[in-house]
Amino acid sequence: MLTSQCCVTSKIGYLGAPSSSFFSRDSLNALFCAGPSQTSHRSRGARFIVRADSDFYSVLGVSRNASKSEIKSAYRKLARSFHPDVNKEPGAETKFKEISNAYEVLSDDEKRSLYDKYGEAGLKGAGMGTGDFSNPFDLFESLFEGMGGMGGMGGMGGMGGRGSRSRAVDGQDEYYNLVLNFKEAVFGVEKEIEISRLESCGTCNGSGAKPGTKPSRCSTCGGQGQVVQSARTPLGVFQQVMTCSSCGGSGETSIPCNTCSGDGRVRRTKRISLKVPAGVDSGSRLRVRNEGNAGRRGGSPGDLFVIIEVIPDPVLKRDDTNILYTCKVSYIDAILGTTIKVPTVDGMVDLKIPAGTQPNTTLVMAKKGVPLLNKSNMRGDQLVRVQVEIPKRLSNDEKKLIEELASLSKGKATSRR
Ligand SMILES: [Zn+2]
Ligand SMILES: [Zn+2]
Repeated sequence: MLTSQCCVTSKIGYLGAPSSSFFSRDSLNALFCAGPSQTSHRSRGARFIVRADSDFYSVLGVSRNASKSEIKSAYRKLARSFHPDVNKEPGAETKFKEISNAYEVLSDDEKRSLYDKYGEAGLKGAGMGTGDFSNPFDLFESLFEGMGGMGGMGGMGGMGGRGSRSRAVDGQDEYYNLVLNFKEAVFGVEKEIEISRLESCGTCNGSGAKPGTKPSRCSTCGGQGQVVQSARTPLGVFQQVMTCSSCGGSGETSIPCNTCSGDGRVRRTKRISLKVPAGVDSGSRLRVRNEGNAGRRGGSPGDLFVIIEVIPDPVLKRDDTNILYTCKVSYIDAILGTTIKVPTVDGMVDLKIPAGTQPNTTLVMAKKGVPLLNKSNMRGDQLVRVQVEIPKRLSNDEKKLIEELASLSKGKATSRR
């Protein structure tokens, strides 16, 4: 009794987890001492035959090279089925003892190797014969006590409990989607946005109680704000600490305020001026502290997250802090070189195409890219890919000149030989 009492108390002090679970030793005992009704059907499934000279491996239904954990889990399954408190069939207790003896030997490396070599005689020779086994019930309890999650509650004791009346709940974050055009995202912008969120109710000052009435202690949880629920599972009684649904964890019930229906908060819209920094991109999240939903019972407000979506530009493509652009130049310009006008986020800018520029060359326009987020004095580049256009049709004059050019370069090639 004392064990579970202690666990409950420490759980209530642990406000961080609205629900969590643990086993208590008592709850397991409760299962195994609960009488035949709930698990007796298991015993009918006994799958192995006990030989006169019982082999410990076959008692547990494991192979001779079974691992320690296989042995342990086989033991746990069988011991549960044959525990005489649960299993009222004749022979169950004998069976339970056999299982325990087998487990005791096979779970101990030294005893197991003696047994493997010499059988039970080997154990007798080592001073351990029939009757020298531990009390099977102690063994059973020691194993279940050591299971993870059962003994681990001690550490929670220091999590100091806040009074049930000050059970504050922080407000949730609020989200807002903001669409920006390409240049706004690159250079930043100041935007006025209208957000909708829960604010503390002015009528009841956020208490949720009708003004002039006094809250009373919640009868469901007795003012604790939490209730312990038990569920029976094959592993034992599973206890869960849950937030009381009658009072929402406050431990109090009151006549609800008419304005906020007892929530203590009302949804309101608010216009806020938002400074979007230079360099944001689609998917960027801006956090505005404390502009989310109000908390309850004195909890701090959540934050407002502004999620940015950027409308793409038809010609300038963004690649992180660089901007990609493709220009077209004629083959003649590529050969002779020229200066072209290129659109950038700063407007039209001259770009020199050097003589002899190869198709698909990338030219770098330094610092014409996007300012780095939060380091707006640094900027990426604009990368210009040069597409060289070859004419599909030529005028007669052009053709003549190209042919002349062709014979000229052929002569060049011949003279080089
Ligand atoms: Zn109110
Ligand atoms: Zn309650």
